[in-house]
Amino acid sequence: MSKVTRRSFVKNLGLGVGSAAILPTLVSFENSPLLGDIPYTGKKLNIALCGLGRYANILATGLQETEYCSLAGIVTGTPEKAKTWKAKYQIPEENIYNYENFDEIIKNKNIDLVYVVLPNGMHKEFTIRAAKARKHVIVEKPMANSAAECKQMIDACNKAGVQLAVGYRLHYEPHHLEIQRLGREKVFGPVRHIEATLGYNIKGMPADDWHFNKALSGGGVLMNLGVYCVQINRYVLGEEPVSVTAQFSPKTMPDLFTEVEENISWQLNFPSGAVGTSTAASNCRADRFYAAAEQGFFELSPAMGYGPFKGRTSEEEFKFPVINQQATQMDGISKVILDGNKLPSHISGEEGLKDMQIIDAIYKAAATGKKISLG
Ligand code: NDP
Repeated sequence: MSKVTRRSFVKNLGLGVGSAAILPTLVSFENSPLLGDIPYTGKKLNIALCGLGRYANILATGLQETEYCSLAGIVTGTPEKAKTWKAKYQIPEENIYNYENFDEIIKNKNIDLVYVVLPNGMHKEFTIRAAKARKHVIVEKPMANSAAECKQMIDACNKAGVQLAVGYRLHYEPHHLEIQRLGREKVFGPVRHIEATLGYNIKGMPADDWHFNKALSGGGVLMNLGVYCVQINRYVLGEEPVSVTAQFSPKTMPDLFTEVEENISWQLNFPSGAVGTSTAASNCRADRFYAAAEQGFFELSPAMGYGPFKGRTSEEEFKFPVINQQATQMDGISKVILDGNKLPSHISGEEGLKDMQIIDAIYKAAATGKKISLG
């Protein structure tokens, strides 16, 4: 494994927010005797996790490894979780909220940021309430149920003068920074074709889970997994799609998927002529990215899940460190806020909005069978 530690990696992220520029810097950083593993001892950003489900547990574990932020508070509708989390993470009673008294967080000077980890259909409400309480916000992906909701969230955060980030963990991950560089710098010539596929087998998930409920999820697997495929196309090419075609595939679990799609495939057309084809599936495991360029290729598999990622170019294998994606993401965001800087655009609310505009168009294309223009 490389000598690059997560600490040095995050410090490096703070130096240059343009992600395409990061990896060359990372290499020189590794060899620098001056910038070693000096622990950070300054003020930390105090984070409250809102919605203590599966992913919040992963974030809480990540927060045990962060240097620039800490788990300071929780917002939960389940009193038993409040008790367990309070004991497990030594959370002061005054930093524990439920969904009813959440707005009182405005009076709490010991919470700087609310991380919204609720079902998608609740993202808009809690982002806006957090902004009104003058807290910075990280909201999980997908940013909301629609592009229209994303706009309202961005407006609320701008009005309140707080920063809004989307929980795009892959923007802090070395394999992903490298494929961005390879694509945008045309290291193998222009990328002509991208395949990005992500799937899980949802069989066994209780039928009353919010993922099957349109109001709470906003949609099916496109919202939950497909958003990563949309993202990877955009950040590898550094372009925005101009049109989209899409198809729903037949349901293999019709009893579960009464309100939202089970599987969906789509094609994005980019101004350079590049085409991105993707499938998001709920009935099989898949996690793959492949970019074909004029003079070579690069690929990742596993590519977009929790990793560890594996990949190569047409010339060599990738050898990047395995990092805690959530810790690195939260440290990266916290460092920018603590330094008083604006969050980089690639993880901002505007980025989440762009993805949702494309997702809205993919749904429209699949429903109508027509090519939908974007922009
Ligand atoms: P879970 O169902 O595991 O957790 C959601 C939590 O929200 C619940 O445990 C509950 O917490 C709270 N909640 C409040 N109201 C409701 C309701 N009506 N129905 C269900 N839950 C409710 O979901 P996940 O943690 O898997 O997903 C949460 C968000 O995180 C989603 O937006 C998802 O897309 C995103 N996510 C992101 C991942 C990533 O890699 N970036 C990975 C997985 C998910 P409480 O009991 O505390 O009130």
